[in-house]
Amino acid sequence: MPATVRPILRLEDVSRFFGGIAALSDVSFDVQTNDLLGLIGPNGSGKTTLLNVVSGYYRPNGGRIFLGDQRIDGKSPAALARLGIGRTFQITKVFKRLSVLENLLVPGLVSWRSGRHQAETRARAILDDLKLTHLIDERADTLSGGQGKLLEFGRLMMLRPQIILLDEPFGGVHPELKSFMHEKLREWNAAGVSIVLISHDMASIFGLCNRVAVLSDGHLLADGSPETVREDPKVLEAYLGQQDAT
Ligand code: ADP
Ligand code: MG
Repeated sequence: MPATVRPILRLEDVSRFFGGIAALSDVSFDVQTNDLLGLIGPNGSGKTTLLNVVSGYYRPNGGRIFLGDQRIDGKSPAALARLGIGRTFQITKVFKRLSVLENLLVPGLVSWRSGRHQAETRARAILDDLKLTHLIDERADTLSGGQGKLLEFGRLMMLRPQIILLDEPFGGVHPELKSFMHEKLREWNAAGVSIVLISHDMASIFGLCNRVAVLSDGHLLADGSPETVREDPKVLEAYLGQQDAT
């Protein structure tokens, strides 16, 4: 029997307008279970808007979004987090005045509705895995930029997500920490977490992703294997051709 491909996330003709500008026009694509999907495109092409629409921060003006069989467009970010959609932000969002441990307990307690003891056990295991244990009682605003990004990863994992949406997680991150983040993403993906990764870092995208989707002016320009997308003349013209040799 052929392996059945099961989409975890499906977008059908999704549009989002801001005033007269179509940030997304009729975007349709699937994310399959186990995909580590790269989402690339020029600045202003709609990448962050797509994440905002999928994670419930913006309502689409048209189209439908499904998580598995369930229609999810119009649901709130908190409801979507409980359904297993996790996301990070281009500008790191953590509770600055809470400790590293408390930063993990908040999503754990709110979204997962677990008891304090259970949440704390899980938080400690995640922080250990992310090599943040030595910072467990530090206030989040004392962390470096890269450690803050790791803390966001930890908060995501508290949700036991089915799918995580990452917006430029490697921006300003030291190369050593970046390869540690790559390692974690590969591990989580292998453990069954689907991942959508926005990044301008082409080495990360082409080193990690099994599929790459390209947005240009709110349209899906290409979607396929890294090899086909890299060679696609449309993509070269709209985006990759303008990149430095990175
Ligand atoms: P990217 O993440 O690919 O750089 P964005 O999704 O941030 O692109 O933006 C796509 C387009 O939508 C841009 O023209 C941007 O100015 C516009 N846009 C995004 N968010 C808003 C908003 N909240 N209000 C008005 N315009 C927006
Ligand atoms: Mg963006």
